[in-house]
Amino acid sequence: MSIKNILQKDNFTRDDIIALLSADNPADIELIRNKAEQILLDRCGSKVFYRGLIEFSNGCVCDCHYCGIRKSNHTVKRFMLTKEEIISAAKWCADKGYGSVVLQSGERNDPAFVDFVEDAIMQIKNATISQNLPKGVGITLSIGEQSLKTCERFFKAGAHRYLLRIETSSPKLFNSIHSSTQNLQSRINAIKNLKQANFQAGTGVMIGLPGQTSNDLADDILLFKELDVDMIGMGPYIPHKDTPMNIHSEYFNLNKDKIFQTSLLMIAVCRLVLKDVNIASTTALQAIRDDGREMGLRYGANVMMPQVTPVNVRRDYLLYEGKPCLDESSEELRQGLDLRIRSLGRQVAIDEWGDSKHYKNNKG
Ligand code: SAH
Repeated sequence: MSIKNILQKDNFTRDDIIALLSADNPADIELIRNKAEQILLDRCGSKVFYRGLIEFSNGCVCDCHYCGIRKSNHTVKRFMLTKEEIISAAKWCADKGYGSVVLQSGERNDPAFVDFVEDAIMQIKNATISQNLPKGVGITLSIGEQSLKTCERFFKAGAHRYLLRIETSSPKLFNSIHSSTQNLQSRINAIKNLKQANFQAGTGVMIGLPGQTSNDLADDILLFKELDVDMIGMGPYIPHKDTPMNIHSEYFNLNKDKIFQTSLLMIAVCRLVLKDVNIASTTALQAIRDDGREMGLRYGANVMMPQVTPVNVRRDYLLYEGKPCLDESSEELRQGLDLRIRSLGRQVAIDEWGDSKHYKNNKG
């Protein structure tokens, strides 16, 4: 069946999804992009929602083979922002009209860490309540797998969205890029905990992992659907020199353009299949191409996560090499992004949480 015919359907089979993800002629790719953009505009509107990204600590108990801040990378200088620094970054976001922040860090599950995060959430809420934001900024967490009890504490403290990528839906591929203490089923259970604790749950995968096929990517999308998640964040896998997976850096260098294009197609096909979820256009896209994040918006994304991590620690939070935006101030980054978004004919939402329509539609 031609791409044009597949796009006329409302529901896609696994084979349809594989065909869409494998599209490689520019005319077909443009048909897919255009349809994804149409669905985005119909179902979610044209607004782009900012989440100020606060990378508050690089301490991590995990040893993911791809990640620059993995536990065994002893070249990393470990840091943890103070609560004052975190709150000041969140207040900056609120003042600039960003309706939400993301608190991201390496994974830790010890009581001191959980207490710290819980208290930071409450303090951010208190510090950002205003006439424009009567309930303070929306808070998304991205701090790894946590128990149901911990999720419930974080939700009660005031966080209401949580990102936890499955990284890949293939158990074999998952095991090949993680240490033996991690497994896909426990990731999936953690996502279920988030939903049970009432969080809007987000997940996602890395694209271009060595050995990953279009079939794997199609299964990723089908798993997102089965888990009934509200948000998606995906990006290309990019090597980091101090990680075991750096042995594949040649593969990345040779296939960069293709990986970039597949990442955009993943955004578009997620939009076609999942329709009313929030989809982030991630920084990793910009690590491959300067206009990567705008391209993500054109392929159906509606969320951006501008960095608001203090500049003095940004270099210590390198998940991958070539991470952009290391030196520009939060203000410079904001102005640049605003311009880029307006040039696409889209608007930046001001003082809105920008919750996933999918979550709202599901809850009635
Ligand atoms: N500790 C949190 C946050 C991790 S960082 C957690 O486990 O959820 C967020 C995401 O960055 C990860 O889920 C992973 O998909 C991505 N990431 C890590 N290393 C990467 C790399 N080398 N290239 C691209 N993305 C990477």
